[in-house]
Amino acid sequence: MRFRYLKYVFLSVAIISGLLFTACSNKTETVDEVADIPEEIVEEHEHIYTEEVTMEAACENDGEKTFTCECGDTYTEVITATGHSYEEVADSAVAATCDTDGKDADTKCSVCENVVEGAVITATGHQFGEYVYNNNASTAADGTETATCSVCGGTDTRTKAGTKIEVVYDGYDEFGNGYVMGDDGYKHFDAKCPYATYQANWTNNSEVYFYGIKGSPSISQSLKQEMAVKNGIPYDDRIKTDYNYLGYYNGQLVFSCRIYIG
Ligand SMILES: [Zn+2]
Ligand SMILES: [Zn+2]
Ligand SMILES: [Zn+2]
Repeated sequence: MRFRYLKYVFLSVAIISGLLFTACSNKTETVDEVADIPEEIVEEHEHIYTEEVTMEAACENDGEKTFTCECGDTYTEVITATGHSYEEVADSAVAATCDTDGKDADTKCSVCENVVEGAVITATGHQFGEYVYNNNASTAADGTETATCSVCGGTDTRTKAGTKIEVVYDGYDEFGNGYVMGDDGYKHFDAKCPYATYQANWTNNSEVYFYGIKGSPSISQSLKQEMAVKNGIPYDDRIKTDYNYLGYYNGQLVFSCRIYIG
C-alpha cells in the first residue's frame, strides 16, 4: 500500500517539476546574479571598534573621538567643549568712589588663561550738604556758594545767582572807581575789597591802587610785599603810598590808597 502511494507522489513531482521548469526558464539569469553577491558583504561580522581621541576638546571648541574596526569601518563622536574654568584674579577689583568708577574682580580661565574684565561699578556720586554763600559777590559778578561732600570732603562751588551788587554811582575817581556820595559828606566807594582787607587794581607799570580798611593807616613793608604779591608784581622797596579818599562800603569805612613806585 505504501509503495503504491509513493509511485503517485513521484509522478506528481515529475509533472509539477516539468511545469515549473517551463514557467521559470526565462528567469534563470536573475537567479545567477543573486549568487554573485560579493563575499565581504555576505560574510558579515560583528564590528569591534577601537576608540581614539582624534581631537582634544578645548574650553570653547568641541573635540572628536574616532572609532575604528579592523575591517576599516569607522565613525566619529563629538566631545563637547569643556567650558572655561574661571577664577577671580587677586587684587583686580576696584572700589568705586564718589567721582570715579570701580569694577568687580577680573576672572581668568585656569586652563586657557582667557581673562574677562570685571563689570564696571558706577561712581557713587558725592553726598553734598547745603551750599553756603561765600560772601564774595562784586559789582561785576555774582558771588559763589560752596557745598562739601560728607563722604570724601570734596567741594563743589557754583555761582549764586542774584548776588551781584548793583550800585548806581554818583561819580568816579580819577582811577575809574565808582562812588556814591554819603550823607556824611564822604564818597562811599564801591570798594574793590569789601571782604578782603586789600585788593589792588593794577593800572599801569608803576602804580597800584587799592582800598584798605581804615585802621591800617601806615602801610608796613610786609603789607606792601603782600600787596605786591596779590597784584602779581615784584615787590619793590621804593613802593610808596598815599591816601586819596575816605569812603564807606557795606557799612565799613574804607580808604582809597595809591601805591606807587618812585
Ligand atoms: Zn568591522
Ligand atoms: Zn578657558
Ligand atoms: Zn564725595
